Amino acid sequence: MRKDLCIVGAGPAGLLTALHVKERDITLIEEHQKIGIPKHCAGLVGLETKKIIEKELSPRLIDHEYNEIEFNILGVGKHAFHFKEPVVFHVKRPLLEWKLFDKVSSQIEFLSKVKAKPGETPTEIHSKNYEIKCQDVVASDGVLSLFRERYFKAKPCYLIGFQGLFETNYIIDKRIIVTYINHNDLLFHWIIPFDENLVLSGYMSRKTLPKSINEKLLALNGLKPKGVAEFFGGLIPCSHPLKIPVFANHLFFFGDSIPLVKPYTGGGLYYIFKLAPELARTLDKNDPRGYVEAYLSQSYFKLKAEHFMTKFFSRTRYWLPVPILEFIEKIGLFRRDDYDKHYKLLFKTLPFMPFLPSYLFWLRKRLA
Ligand SMILES: Cc1cc2nc3c(=O)[nH]c(=O)nc-3n(C[C@H](O)[C@H](O)[C@H](O)COP(=O)(O)OP(=O)(O)OC[C@H]3O[C@@H](n4cnc5c(N)ncnc54)[C@H](O)[C@@H]3O)c2cc1C
Repeated sequence: MRKDLCIVGAGPAGLLTALHVKERDITLIEEHQKIGIPKHCAGLVGLETKKIIEKELSPRLIDHEYNEIEFNILGVGKHAFHFKEPVVFHVKRPLLEWKLFDKVSSQIEFLSKVKAKPGETPTEIHSKNYEIKCQDVVASDGVLSLFRERYFKAKPCYLIGFQGLFETNYIIDKRIIVTYINHNDLLFHWIIPFDENLVLSGYMSRKTLPKSINEKLLALNGLKPKGVAEFFGGLIPCSHPLKIPVFANHLFFFGDSIPLVKPYTGGGLYYIFKLAPELARTLDKNDPRGYVEAYLSQSYFKLKAEHFMTKFFSRTRYWLPVPILEFIEKIGLFRRDDYDKHYKLLFKTLPFMPFLPSYLFWLRKRLA
């Protein structure tokens, strides 16, 4: 079978590519029968991503907004950042994927329940029932990308993200809480309130932990879960981003297969929304340079910087320089759009780093 443009994976990355490409015949290949499976994401985005979602898709996809972020380093202290206007937004997933699919479904060929595997060459795809020869392939097949493994010989590195929707006692409903733990396999925990009695409580860890851990983590924040409505989760990539996200000029990587995930929070939607129009333009023009240039200028070095910072802090058993951020907020440098652009926090905290060794020494003594 011969095809023009094959997109493997109908997650946000694959669907957004399909939305923006105008001049090609698209075949979208998805291993599940339905879009949005498995549901895994917490759905937090910053101001810029929220604006793009509202403009390109629908304002109704954003269902909650938050004015406050509380950072809590267990055993050390916490600090809440207050903003006059909302800084973090919750996007409904998998409604995002359904909306995107709705927009593209009449213009594409959709092959569901087809697990695509790399073929003999970068533009060939194998599956149980199909042998497809494509002009171009977009590998938006997520964190366990078979295409990344085959062509970059890279085993996927990932962390576990698992969360539950709990009924609880009262919580400030405009504040999200991030608790850095970094103890054994548990790295950090988040609480996202949906109303005064309903919260999404999740954690990032190195391995799967018992379900009851979420309840213990809620208790650390003074919350008593009364019941759980739903459990869900998935894998958060922690590999280094590909230097060049294109192989042999015709195989394009996009989304978690690169991965475009900010290691501070596991947020993957920001760069997907930013880069999708560039990738689409490149595919329409049949020239990979535009996408590579946009990727290098908009995301690669920022993602690398965040990787470096996250590794450094996690090795020293310490994640965010909360006191430094606190100081930065006091002098007005922590801005509303920094949630989408974590690398900016890195650059803003760097001038204060000379004080860090003595702080880390003090911190270690407190945590010991
Ligand atoms: C617990 C958790 C919390 C998160 N929270 C946030 C958050 O708050 N904010 C944020 O911005 N991001 C968050 N993320 C990250 C975000 O969900 C991902 O970055 C985003 O979904 C990546 O989109 P994608 O399309 O690249 O991959 P995916 O969403 O994984 O989609 C890949 C698609 O490809 C399909 N597929 C895979 N392999 C094949 C194959 N061989 N053949 C055919 N189809 C295939 C899959 O079925 C899937 O539909 C979170 C992730 C997790 C796990």
